[in-house]
Amino acid sequence: MDKKYGAYICTGCGIGDALDIEALSGVVTSEMSMDCKTHQALCGSEGRALIEGDIAGGVNTVVICGCSPRVMENEFNFGDDKITVRGNIREQVVWCRAEDADPEYVQELASDYVRMACTRAQKTDLPEPYQLEEMSKKILVMGGGVAGLTAATEAAKAGYEVTLVEKSDKLGGKALEWRKQLPTKAPWTDLEDPSVSAMVSEVEAASNITVKTSSEVARIGGSPGNFGVTFKAADEKSEWDAPAKVAVDEQDLIDKGEMEDPNAGLKP
Ligand code: SF4
Repeated sequence: MDKKYGAYICTGCGIGDALDIEALSGVVTSEMSMDCKTHQALCGSEGRALIEGDIAGGVNTVVICGCSPRVMENEFNFGDDKITVRGNIREQVVWCRAEDADPEYVQELASDYVRMACTRAQKTDLPEPYQLEEMSKKILVMGGGVAGLTAATEAAKAGYEVTLVEKSDKLGGKALEWRKQLPTKAPWTDLEDPSVSAMVSEVEAASNITVKTSSEVARIGGSPGNFGVTFKAADEKSEWDAPAKVAVDEQDLIDKGEMEDPNAGLKP
């Protein structure tokens, strides 16, 4: 992005009474090499029109020195394709200065805030979204209980290809042991027969859901939108397993060869 800077100093809210605005403008023009304009209320329609006029003339990086960036966010929002940096010389300088503060120090503090804002504008670039060339639309659901069954069904209905992995040899989880379940419809007074079997049937019948029972996820690599997943048989050891806890006395036994190392073969 070729930057064209415009810096603006607001003299409202007591800023103009407390600071030498001409000297402050000089910091912007001479030290930071940016055009600088001042106005008594940059947040007002006239002040914004001043900035917007410059933007129409090509300014795409705006430095506004006045109130805190926590306020007037909408007034100073000139669009996502513009860089806007706010220098806080109101709350951080003018409004918090001691009554007997040396004006020279106050002025220097304001100058530093202006320098910082200008420097930040110089060093800021518009973010460019990182876009994968090809984004995977496959969804992995881990766990075949009620939550996993629901997630898999809904994702499949939304058109995604789903793989549902379950450690045990059948889907349904703890809900398979339920005799009754909480009511799901008005008047909310009668327990209902469990719906988990119907949910399992729905998942098994869905053409875009692949069910892997007696399986676990061994490893997930890659990054969002481009994950790669490796499966393993349930309870099988893999070099990618999280290490088991080994107490100090157990480590002694392992070192003496009197106990099997539970983490043997794992990646360090
Ligand atoms: S609110 Fe901010 S922009 Fe508006 S006059 Fe006060 S310092 Fe200037």
